[in-house]
Amino acid sequence: MVVIAIDGPSGSGKSSASRAVAAFFHWEYLDTGALYRALTLFAIERDVQDFSLIPELLTSDSIMWKGSPEEPQLLLEGREVNSEIRSERVTKRVSEVAADPNVRKFLLTLQRAIINQARFGIVVEGRDIGTTVWPDAELKIFLTADLIARAERRNAELSSHFTNKEIQDALAARDVVDSNRSTSPLRQIDEQIIIDATHFSLEEVVSEIKRLVIELELSDDGESRE
Ligand code: C5P
Repeated sequence: MVVIAIDGPSGSGKSSASRAVAAFFHWEYLDTGALYRALTLFAIERDVQDFSLIPELLTSDSIMWKGSPEEPQLLLEGREVNSEIRSERVTKRVSEVAADPNVRKFLLTLQRAIINQARFGIVVEGRDIGTTVWPDAELKIFLTADLIARAERRNAELSSHFTNKEIQDALAARDVVDSNRSTSPLRQIDEQIIIDATHFSLEEVVSEIKRLVIELELSDDGESRE
C-alpha cells in the first residue's frame, strides 16, 4: 500500500491537488484537517471549554471518514457535516483545538487506522503527515505558496464577503499557531519535496505530483488512467 503525504499551510491548494492525484491513481484520500475541524465543531456545539476533554466525550466511531476522492464525506456522530466544518466559526477556532496534545493523540490513532485500511494507496493531506502521522510515506511533499496567492485562492473558493487583506490576516494567524505549537507543528523536513505553487496552476501542481509518483514507480501502470 502506497502513502503519499502532502503537507503545507492553509490555502496552498493541498485539497484540490490531493483529490486529483488520488482520483487519477484510483487511490483513497484523507483530509486530516477535516478531522480537526469535526472535533472543533463538536467542541463548539457541546460548549466544551477544555479541549483536552474532547476525546473523552467521543467514542471510536463518533467520527467516520469516507475517503473517496470524488466525494469525500465526514460524519460526526452519524450526521454529515461536510459544509458545517468549513464554516467561519469552525475555521476561527480550529488551530486552537488542534494545538491540544490530547486532541492530537486521539486523531493520530484515528488517522493511522484510516490509512491502514486503504487497499492500494492513499493520498493524505495535512500539516504533520510526513513528520508524525506517517513518517514512512513513500512520497512526502510540502506544498506551499506565498500568502497573497493563498489568500486569493481561498477567497475564490469561499466566494466570501471578506477582503483579500482579511483573508491574508486570518491565514497568517493560523500559520503562526500551526507552526509554533509544541506537538507536531507544521514544519518542512529534508525528505520532503517542496512545491511552491505561487505561480503554478492546480493542473501544473497535479502534473508534477503525478510525475513524481510515476518516476518513483509507486503506481502500477494498470492502476492509473489518463
Ligand atoms: O487543512 P485545513 O485548513 O482544513 O486544516 C484546519 C486546521 O487543522 C489547520 O489550520 C491546523 O490547525 C489543523 N491541522 C493540523 N494537523 C493536520 C491537519 C490540520 O493541526 N494534519
